[in-house]
Formats: sequence, structure tokens, C-alpha cells
Amino acid sequence: MKTVALPNGERVPAFGQGTWYMGDSPARRAEEIATLRLGLDLGATLIDTAEMYGDGRAEQLVGEAIAGRRDEVFLVSKVLPHHATRRGTVKACEQSLKRLQTDRLDLYLLHWRGSVPFAETLHALVALQSAGKIRHYGVSNLDLADMQEIFELAGGAAIATNQLLYNLARRGVEFDLLPWLSERHIPVMAYSPLEQTRLIDDSKLSAFARKHGMTPAQAALAWLLARDDVIVIPKSGRAERLRENLGALEHPLSVSQLAELDGLFPPPDGPRALEML
Ligand code: NAP
Repeated sequence: MKTVALPNGERVPAFGQGTWYMGDSPARRAEEIATLRLGLDLGATLIDTAEMYGDGRAEQLVGEAIAGRRDEVFLVSKVLPHHATRRGTVKACEQSLKRLQTDRLDLYLLHWRGSVPFAETLHALVALQSAGKIRHYGVSNLDLADMQEIFELAGGAAIATNQLLYNLARRGVEFDLLPWLSERHIPVMAYSPLEQTRLIDDSKLSAFARKHGMTPAQAALAWLLARDDVIVIPKSGRAERLRENLGALEHPLSVSQLAELDGLFPPPDGPRALEML
């Protein structure tokens, strides 16, 4: 498995598994669990979840999927902004740990910026880290100005990642946010890398993929995997799609293929407000 370095040098899989909407359908549950386990077998050992997903149902499902295999997993979860106070963050984390049936998270993220001051959230994250309940912490959906602000606060410079909406159809972050993160060796976790299937249905990407002997999903993921500071976290609750998506690692894109994609999905030519889903 290709890996990406966190700021402290620890390496994590460049291909992880998303879990939004997992656990919502009782009829799909067994296959979702089996798919997450298959992912572990195939090296996609980073799992991304959040207390928000299905109001804890996704975390519960992940807990079941990783039972007996906790040490293989790099486990990521997120605190909701309105829980992210000094006390609330600690309580939310403890509840996530319970649902996930574990004693620690590998990475805990502030899901997006709410009204709680960053300093309060950071205080709680540092306390959780000292207590051994989380190994790393980070943020999600923070634009450049937010990153600059939080980075200056106590504990801010230890932020391990910014999880962002980033895919071929959402390249705005490339203008100033990605370079700023890259200078500080902070990798990006690219969420909705398939644009929640809209990229798979895109005619330009389909034609590109056909021409180069891969599927549209593989092309979308291979484009992100071409960077050494991006972790992709596509979600699929179906074994055959997980295998297909992992196939992106077998199709590293050449310089000319990347240039072709730049023509089809142009990079930003100026600053853009951060998009989120
Ligand atoms: P995504 O990964 O871009 O797309 C997921 C959708 O694509 C699902 O409907 C999945 O259905 C389908 N799919 C996956 N592989 C496919 C394939 N090869 N062919 C056809 N369909 C395929 O979108 P996402 O779930 O929004 O993003 C990924 C993860 O990022 C989330 O699950 C979550 O963990 C995280 N996320 C974080 C934030 C944040 O604010 N931090 C926001 C959004 C997402 P099946 O499961 O039925 O295959």
C-alpha cells in the first residue's frame, strides 16, 4: 500500500475507507461490514468515520467491523462543531470510543468550524492526547484563513491533517490552501473523491478512462493518488467496487495523462472560497 507521511513522520495508507451512510440500511449492514474487513485484508487500513454519520450508527458498524483487528487499523473520527467545547469534546470522544469499542482513536478531527472558539477545542484535543485517548488530532473543512488562525494557537501547530472536499471537479483548494499545508508537511485527506458518484457519471472522465484502460472511478482516484500529500477516502459498501477503487493504485498516471486531465478539469486561476459537502 502506498503511504503518506503525517507531520511527525508516521506513515499512513494513502487509500482509506470512508463510512458516511454506512449503517443506515439494515439490509446492507452485513455487506458493509464485510467490505470494510476486506479493505483491511487488502491494505486499506485507514477508516474514516464521524459521530455525525447516522447519529453514531456508522461508528457502531465500524466498531463491529474492526472487532478483534483494532491494531491493524488507523482509525479516524470527528467531533461535531457544537460539541467541540472543552468538556463537550472529551465527552463526544468518549462516546465515539464506546461505539467503536476501542480505547483510542488514531486521529480525531474537528468536523468543521462552528461557534466554539478554536482555543477551547484545541485545549480539549491536547488533553485527550495526553490522556492517550487520541494519538493525533486535526481539522476538516478549514479554509486558509481558518488554518492560519488555528495554527498560531496553543496546540495548533500539531494539527496532523485538514480533511477537505477535493477531487477533479473541486480543485479550488489547489490555489492557496494546498500549498500552505504542503509547506508545513500537513497532508490532506480528500473526501468525496468520486464527488459522491457524480464524477463516475461525468462524460469527459468516462472518455478519458476508456481511452487509458481504467474505469472512471479509478481515474478519479489515481489523479488524487498522484500527489504524495493526499490520502483518499472513497466510500463503498460493496466488495466489487472496493476492489475496483483499489485498482486505482495499479494505474499511476503519467505526466501526459495528468496534463490531459488538467485540460478537462482545469486547475483554479485564482483564490476560491472553500467548498464543502
Ligand atoms: P465518495 O466516496 O466520493 O462516493 C461515495 C459514493 O460512491 C457511494 O454512493 C458509493 O456507493 C459510490 N461508489 C463508490 N465506489 C464506486 C464505484 N467504483 N462505482 C460506482 N459507485 C461507487 O463520497 P463520500 O462518501 O461523500 O466521501 C467519502 C468519505 O469521506 C465519506 O464516506 C466520509 O467518510 C468522508 N467525508 C467527510 C466529509 C467531511 O466533512 N469531513 C464530508 C463528506 C465525506 P456504494 O457504497 O453503494 O458503493
